[in-house]
Amino acid sequence: MKKQLVTLLMLIIIVSVAFSQSDSGLKIFISVDMEGITGVVNWEDVSREGKDYEYFRQIMTKETNAAIEGALEAGATEIIVRDSHGSARNILPEMLHKSSKLIRDWSGGFMSMMEGMDKSFDAVIFIGYHAKAGTQNAILEHTMSSRNILDVSINNVSLPEAGINALIAGYYDVPVIFVSGEKALCNQAKILFGEVATVAVKEGLGNAALNLHPEVSREKIRKGVKTALLNLNEYKPYKLTSPYILAVKYKNEEIVNEMSLQPGVTRTGNWELSYKSDDLLDIMKAFSLIH
Ligand SMILES: [Zn+2]
Repeated sequence: MKKQLVTLLMLIIIVSVAFSQSDSGLKIFISVDMEGITGVVNWEDVSREGKDYEYFRQIMTKETNAAIEGALEAGATEIIVRDSHGSARNILPEMLHKSSKLIRDWSGGFMSMMEGMDKSFDAVIFIGYHAKAGTQNAILEHTMSSRNILDVSINNVSLPEAGINALIAGYYDVPVIFVSGEKALCNQAKILFGEVATVAVKEGLGNAALNLHPEVSREKIRKGVKTALLNLNEYKPYKLTSPYILAVKYKNEEIVNEMSLQPGVTRTGNWELSYKSDDLLDIMKAFSLIH
């Protein structure tokens, strides 16, 4: 009888340890843009009509896989990939690592490149990201809208898309631990976030770029993600302090006039609009309506 009791207790311990192990695995959110993918230098490379688009979407998928492999090696058990470029239908589902789930297309919601993000994640990774509008020696630099926007700032901090998206992650207390893309973007991410692991897969030379070989990029991304995740405690969520003041500078007057019709938006300069709120998600909702 005693022996049976001991066996039963042992069984309970083994089962509970197994369950707690699967619970303790890391949950990772990966947002993937395309302008900062290795080899990409021209809008044709990232547009459906471009001759090399089919090639570069493969490179995009493989670079995402490298990040997934690094995350798995560091103990990730759940990985959500958000396709964040153009149509949001670029990553090739069949080629993507089967340990991940893919968010495709736009829902129409304000979360945009961070759609699917919530407080259940342990870390955020950006792959294929590019520098903000107006950056020197950057590839396909822009901020959300290449046609309309000159600059986006919150509380006077000028932000690339990586900064805007990191604030959304920060709202949910989740740090951005790793960024890959072009060198200018990696520098902008370091200045904004402080501690963040980066891999620059290319360096802008005006409109041209000096690129790593795609295989070398993948190896650096895999290793970089793994090391960053194994040192997760070193990274802090990116936050600014409330109240938040969003300011958007535009490239043409027609768009300023049109966007100024949104409720709560005020004109703070000739071609500049502002929106103020204590709630960061309100700021993000307003931004989604005025760009
Ligand atoms: Zn893009």
